[in-house]
Order: sequence, then C-alpha cells, then structure tokens
Amino acid sequence: MSDIKKQIAILGSTGSIGTQALEVITDNNDLFEVYALTANNQVDLLIEQARKFRPEMVAIANESHYLKLKEALADLPIKVFAGNESVAQVAEMQPIDIVLTAMVGYSGLKPTMNAIKSGKKIALANKETLVVAGELICDLVSKHNAAIIPVDSEHSAIFQCMAGEGNNPVEKLILTASGGPFRTKSMRELEHVTSAQALKHPNWDMGAKITIDSASMMNKGFEIIEAKWLFGVMPEQIDVVVHPQSIIHSMVQFADGSIKAQLGLPDMKLPIQYAFTYPDRLKTNFPRLDFNICSQFTFEQPDLERFRNLAFAYYAMEKGGNMPCILNAANEIVVAEFLKDKIGFLQMSDIIEKVMAKADFIAHPTYDDYVKTDAQVRGLTKDFI
Ligand code: MN
Repeated sequence: MSDIKKQIAILGSTGSIGTQALEVITDNNDLFEVYALTANNQVDLLIEQARKFRPEMVAIANESHYLKLKEALADLPIKVFAGNESVAQVAEMQPIDIVLTAMVGYSGLKPTMNAIKSGKKIALANKETLVVAGELICDLVSKHNAAIIPVDSEHSAIFQCMAGEGNNPVEKLILTASGGPFRTKSMRELEHVTSAQALKHPNWDMGAKITIDSASMMNKGFEIIEAKWLFGVMPEQIDVVVHPQSIIHSMVQFADGSIKAQLGLPDMKLPIQYAFTYPDRLKTNFPRLDFNICSQFTFEQPDLERFRNLAFAYYAMEKGGNMPCILNAANEIVVAEFLKDKIGFLQMSDIIEKVMAKADFIAHPTYDDYVKTDAQVRGLTKDFI
C-alpha cells in the first residue's frame, strides 16, 4: 500500500457499524485517517469522536443540535455542518477515498448517490439503499465507474468467495440466516413477544432497527434484494438457509457444483476492515474460530409462514419497480411502532402486506418516484396502524 493514508468518511459514525469502523481505523492508524464524520441525532458521541479523531468536517442531520456541536468544537479547526443535505454533501468532498455508508434506512440513499457520482469507493453498510433503489444505484455505479464493497457480513462473505473467480459462472448464492431470537417460537408465542425480547439477538450485537429486522426476518429479505443488485444474479439464484451458529457467513455455488463459504466468528470489524483494505488482507487480533468449541454446524429451511417478511421480500424482488421501496418504507414505520410497543410482532407483517397491496406501483421509477413512493407509503402505513 502507498504511504499516503486513505481518507475515510463515515456516514453514521455513532451507530454500531460506525463505532466499530472507528475501532478498525484506530487499530490501523498508519493506513487510515478520518476525513469526515456524520450522525443523525447522537450529538454527544459525535463531539467525543470528533475530538478524538480530528476530522476535517462533521455534520449532524438533526439541525437542532447544530449550535451545541459548533460550540463544543469551537477550539478545533473542524468544519461543522447540519441538515440532511449537508450529510449528502459531505459524501462528495474531494479528498475522500472511501465513504462508509453506515446510516440507517432510506436516509442513506441520497448521500450514497452523491458519493457514487463523485467516484468514491463505497463501503456499503446501508443495505436499504440497494433495497429501495438498486437499479438506479447500479446504473450510477457503472456510469461513474465507482466501486461498491459490501460491508454486510453475508455479502462480504459472498464477495470474498468471488475473489479470484473472474467470470466463472455462479449457479447460486446461499445466504445464511441466524434465524434470530424467535427462530423456535410458535405462531402463538410470536403473538405476544415484546420489543425487548426482539432486541436480544443471539449472535450479533447491532443497532435497534436491524435487530428487529433480524427477529422478523425482514433483514434477510432485504439482504436477498441487496445480493441481487450487488452480484447481478436472478432472484431464483438466491437461496436462504438458516444456520443458527452464524459461523458460515454465506456461500457461493459455482456452475460445476462446487461451493465456497467464508467462515469466522461473528464480528463486524472483519467485513468493515476488508471493505477498507480490499483486495488486501491485514493482520488482526480478533478472536479466532476454534473448531473444538464451535463443533456443530446445523442448517434448516426458513419458515415462510411464521416469518412472512421473507416471502414479501421475494415477491418484491421479483415484482421489481418501486415494490422494494414500498416494502422498505412500510417496514421502517412498523418497526418504529413495534419498538414503542404500539403494535405487536405479527402485526408488523400484516400491515406491510396491506400496504404493499394498496400503494401505487411504478414499474420504472425515477429518483423522484422513489422519493414520492417513500413519502406516500409512510403516510399509508400510519393510516393502517
Ligand atoms: Mn447481514
């Protein structure tokens, strides 16, 4: 590698992926430097991070925190911005080499588009961007010759399995799923589970929204759509298998029937670091997988009757157009309501199903159509609650 440090922008630095990315940068501060940090709401943590990593600029999406942020960093030469638009603008600053998109939900779309248009390498952790507007994003990527390196552990695993394979034909992508905290619960039990129970993921330590999505299998639904766009395969080439140990992070089956898998202990720092250093691998001190301890790997079929979200995602992927955008917007609203215990666990899927049937379908959406769909569907979902 060159002796010039790579300049990194972390969009969503105060979340789970963002804070782990800063640990990766700390461990490799001879290679990486923080150029920009952005957050949605957590101003205190953003201040702490800015004082420690001394980026060129910081931005906070929630404008009501601007003065506090500005004053807390007044003694440092750090530029301070506020508002969604400024977060999107930070992503295109000239010195940035890598943009890590680690914000939650639809809000990642605009900044990711800006980063692609300015030719950055994208370390993509915000899966909703590809779920909502995969076609648009892929067109932009090829037009601007940008690179997207997946950070999501399943997609990083597939990406690692593909390394060195050139144009060898892929038969199938096999995404593994932990099954989440409710894997063995019956339909009757699922009626009464609470958000507090859903937030206890057995294997992964993640933010609240994605943890609920994992419990409801919507996360896996989003990931099949994400995989379709990242790897350019047909929907019928994407399988999901439940693997409760979360050691095999995903697999690729090639045309000759050979299957490659990527394994490791569940730790997001590994895919984050790989996205930063690809195609190189750096030495780490992460705990190693011990086959004497992890001595059993099991596999089961996902249950599409108990976890209907996965079926909805397959439907949305096949239907295309703005249907995945509808799915995502409805899901963002029901998850927020479930987190407040305003609706039950199974109601989330019931409402999403109704919204998907009612929202206006657009076969070939533009960027403006996505914006309109997102706003319309959020309103529609609230009406059903
Ligand atoms: Mn994942």
